[in-house]
Amino acid sequence: MQKIAVLYDAGQAVLSTFDLDEVLQRILGIARDYFRLQNAAILLLDAETQQLCVRSQIGWDPGTANVRLGCHDGITGASVVKKRPVYAPDVSKDTRYISSAHSTRSELAIPLMLGDQVVGVLDCQSDRLDHFDRETIDLLTLFSTQASIALQNARLYSLERQRARQLQAINKIAQQSTAVMDLEDLLERVCSLVQHEFQVPHVSLCLREDGELVLRAHAGTLTARLAVGGRLPPDSQPWSQILASGSTLLEKDIRANPNAFQLFSECASRISIPLISFGQSLGVLTLHSAQPDGFRDHDPEALESVADIFASSIQNAQYVERIRHLSYLDGLTGIFNRRFFEMRITEEIERARRSGSGVALVITDIDQFKSLNDEFGHLLGDEVLRQVSSLFHQQLRKIDVVCRYGGEEFAILLSNTNAQHALGVAEKLLRLVEGWNFPGVPRTVTISAGVAVFPEHGTSRDELVRAADVGLYAAKQSGRNRVCLTTVTRAASARA
Ligand code: GH3
Ligand code: MG
Ligand code: MG
Repeated sequence: MQKIAVLYDAGQAVLSTFDLDEVLQRILGIARDYFRLQNAAILLLDAETQQLCVRSQIGWDPGTANVRLGCHDGITGASVVKKRPVYAPDVSKDTRYISSAHSTRSELAIPLMLGDQVVGVLDCQSDRLDHFDRETIDLLTLFSTQASIALQNARLYSLERQRARQLQAINKIAQQSTAVMDLEDLLERVCSLVQHEFQVPHVSLCLREDGELVLRAHAGTLTARLAVGGRLPPDSQPWSQILASGSTLLEKDIRANPNAFQLFSECASRISIPLISFGQSLGVLTLHSAQPDGFRDHDPEALESVADIFASSIQNAQYVERIRHLSYLDGLTGIFNRRFFEMRITEEIERARRSGSGVALVITDIDQFKSLNDEFGHLLGDEVLRQVSSLFHQQLRKIDVVCRYGGEEFAILLSNTNAQHALGVAEKLLRLVEGWNFPGVPRTVTISAGVAVFPEHGTSRDELVRAADVGLYAAKQSGRNRVCLTTVTRAASARA
């Protein structure tokens, strides 16, 4: 009857809560009371250090909690080695015995097993010689399985909780990333979401561009050794290998590999996951840790499902970017079109207004283009348009915007530029075209230009365009192949 009662109580204790320490304390309490023990402890085996650590105890001073023993030492160690209970009926006669309490006369150690693996020991001590008879040992061995079950439950529970957390994270990431259509925005968001949800020190994203890998975004606390937009050296390990193999790589200790390329100074371990959409590798998502062995074995699995979502989102955003880009490009010349010009001039005016700087607009028009078409044919006319666009494009700064405004007219936006400087730039373009040898056109091609500046000649898009047109008209009227500053004043512009 006592047997059933003690096992029943232990079973109840295991089921009572998910808190491992509470369960173990209750189990020890039951064991002490039923078996009249002096001291009892549950020690867990640390797989890495191969030491037995006291996880829960009853009867010793509270300070005993942190005691560690070699996994072969003492009666407890003997039970780990033998994988079955070890009993010392008189500890003073047992050479394996290590004293932990003066009053102890007999000790029984029972290994806690999960499958055929020892995960810990239930250690029972008594102040009586030969306290444990055969039946008590059997009963305690049966009883110890309840502690094993509690350990198993606690492990499964924490694993489950971790999985649930990761599932939630994946869901959140999926929701937040699929809605973002702006590529830059998306890449930054991906990095900070993963960093936050997976609680890692740093996350980076490299994308493939023209056969090379470019660091496009990163988030975290480590020190970057490459700026965003920077290219990774060709054949950088492990990125090129990951792209080629299409499989995830967990590097437990980067410093052990002298060929490994360091993106972040303090990085000691990392997981890199290829981003694959429709069989195409777009890039690599990498999680960086400052500690060697900073990742759990099942992390890659969870990350791979996230990476699949990212790959599709990134590809979508890249399509959108491409389509958006195409809709702003002129089909004949490949430079920006009027639609783009109208968007940009509004932005540039806004920017100039905020910073108190100027922005200049130059509108140029090819002279007598109709007769050029008539003389040499429309196809050659097209080629002249392409070459003029390319000359403008090459001649101007990266921050300047050259657009085909219509037919043979071009609009050029020069940021942070005053009237005098803009006239100089226009003059330079005029001379360049005048001196250019257009293949198949055995005569000089010239252009005329009108210049207007924000805020002197207008403060809105329409005012500035109208003002620059007035300048262009004046240039045509006074003989072509010249540049004229508009005569329109700001006040007249506003009235118009
Ligand atoms: P002006 O010096 O006063 O500007 O004279 P223009 O002949 O250049 O001006 P006009 O506006 O009379 O003629 C513009 C010509 O540009 C008419 C049109 O056939 C030609 N054109 C417009 N778009 C294209 C194009 O895409 N390709 C070609 N080849 N010609 C074009
Ligand atoms: Mg013309
Ligand atoms: Mg024209």
